[in-house]
Amino acid sequence: MTYPIKWNLSRYFYTGLDDPKLATDIANILPVTENFSKKYEHTFHTFSTPEQILGFYSDYTTMSHSMVTPSYYLFYRSSLDTQDLAVTKKMWEVDYIYTLASNQMLWIAQWWKIIGYDRIMEWSRDPKMARYKNDLLSTADGIKYILGEAEEKVLNLKSRPLSLANSLHDELTGSYEYTMKIDGVEKNLTEEEVRSYRQHTDRNIRRESYESLRRVYNSKQTQITLGNIYTSIVKDWSSEITMRGYPDNVMAGRNISEEMDDEVVDMLLTEVEWAYPLYQRFLRAKAKMIWLQDDFSVYDIGAPLGIVDKNFTFDEAYDLHLSVMRDFDSEFYDYSMRMIEEERIDALPQAGKRGGAYASYRKWEESFVLLNFTGKLRDVSTISHELGHAIHGYLSQWQEAPVYDSALSMAETASIFAEMLLGEKVKSLVTAEEYKEYLNERLGDIFATIFRQVQYVAFEREVHTQIHSGEELSYKDLNILWRSHQDKLYGGVVAYDINAESESGWSMIPHIYHTPFYCYAYAFGNLLTFALYNKVQDGSLSKEDYKDILRSGGSERPRYLLARYGIDIASPEFYQSGLREVEKMVEEFEKMV
Ligand SMILES: [Zn+2]
Repeated sequence: MTYPIKWNLSRYFYTGLDDPKLATDIANILPVTENFSKKYEHTFHTFSTPEQILGFYSDYTTMSHSMVTPSYYLFYRSSLDTQDLAVTKKMWEVDYIYTLASNQMLWIAQWWKIIGYDRIMEWSRDPKMARYKNDLLSTADGIKYILGEAEEKVLNLKSRPLSLANSLHDELTGSYEYTMKIDGVEKNLTEEEVRSYRQHTDRNIRRESYESLRRVYNSKQTQITLGNIYTSIVKDWSSEITMRGYPDNVMAGRNISEEMDDEVVDMLLTEVEWAYPLYQRFLRAKAKMIWLQDDFSVYDIGAPLGIVDKNFTFDEAYDLHLSVMRDFDSEFYDYSMRMIEEERIDALPQAGKRGGAYASYRKWEESFVLLNFTGKLRDVSTISHELGHAIHGYLSQWQEAPVYDSALSMAETASIFAEMLLGEKVKSLVTAEEYKEYLNERLGDIFATIFRQVQYVAFEREVHTQIHSGEELSYKDLNILWRSHQDKLYGGVVAYDINAESESGWSMIPHIYHTPFYCYAYAFGNLLTFALYNKVQDGSLSKEDYKDILRSGGSERPRYLLARYGIDIASPEFYQSGLREVEKMVEEFEKMV
């Protein structure tokens, strides 16, 4: 069977940039928001009954939905070709219209402020409002950080350069060209392709791949540009803290939007940092297995043991994913099947295509998945990961629009769970020798998604804290800080062949530019998923309960939602029990040396 491996955007959106419908939809954005404002701007603050608020919610969500369709289309188009300038220009145009439109609706936040905390809380307790409860609770919590209408307007207009900083980052990193010598032949490759060589059996190729990335990211021009983009984003974040009066913790803004209590996040970071020696044990065992105990370098971290170098075609990989879904749940299987058959998966790398992988979904619409499949076992895991997201987006359709999206800290649950299901399947398909390799890869992934993400956030927290307290940081300062955090994580097991001043690893992490501190969601999501997975396996959580957690979207704060299923995320034991699962696997791995 040959699956369609390209997005068919014209089936879901427009036939192209010149589609008259696109022009009409863009032209409608401002009139639609004007009409909405006309209807509610002078009455909203006088609303007193739940029925009135329900009517408002319904009109608001219909309006927002129709408004954003052009930008989804343009975003997908630019993911397929980040170098398409016509698309980029159109995106900027639409972005500016959004800024104007959202300026037109700033009264909403102001009226919520006038309606006030007590009235909003009263509505949140009304059974008629049950399906909007969590949105009302976050609104009640959030109004204390909303500034006056004039200030909000200024902030909104001033935020344009910030989104330019972000698209500068995307465009710039998308334009980088990589060369690598493979078998004596110089090849031009995409970043994704170069990265996939970091898992090559041949150490020279791994080193080449590492050096190929370093040639680009360590060039002075790149360092100056990315360093300045990053520090401007951090400075903007810092100004928001001051202006909005967030609690004095640089992560507070993220924690509020993530519905995570500060002390829960601190506990997550502390518990994982405490467990760093586990990572070092794994790396030490691995170094012995590949005979590099005296000279284990950064480019050996992703090394395979050299037992199997299994390659998959995309069809084989997708079939494997499908068979795992079929064994788990028919709804998971059906949706995975629809995703591929209905042309919503773009599978292969190509020049100009955005790197990495993502799933995108929204209320009332189908999910889309972008991949850069290169045939490795890891890429098969990525399929399950992103399809997990897509299914989560599908199951959450049960929720109303304002509470459709789950908090980011819950957003990785379905994806990691699906990866774990795939992992079990792989385990049952391979020989004992191959299992050794599998465990190596599996642990590599776990440490990358729990430990390294925590290290990223610890680095970010330090950068943000220093800049927030008024210090200036050059790219060299960032490099040195990055090295100090790496030292803590690796504990002397990894040898470096460049000095700390040139350690530009931070500059390659897209999340620190786009969504500061987001990476802790991966660590949290992984540990949480270990807990959920164990519970489903031992029967203390039914499959339907698990699906209900996914169906709940953003309708409840993670802490309370999970408490209903016997999980207390505010207790250190929760994190320790997840980390114990990792320790068991490390012990198993050490025994194989
Ligand atoms: Zn994900």
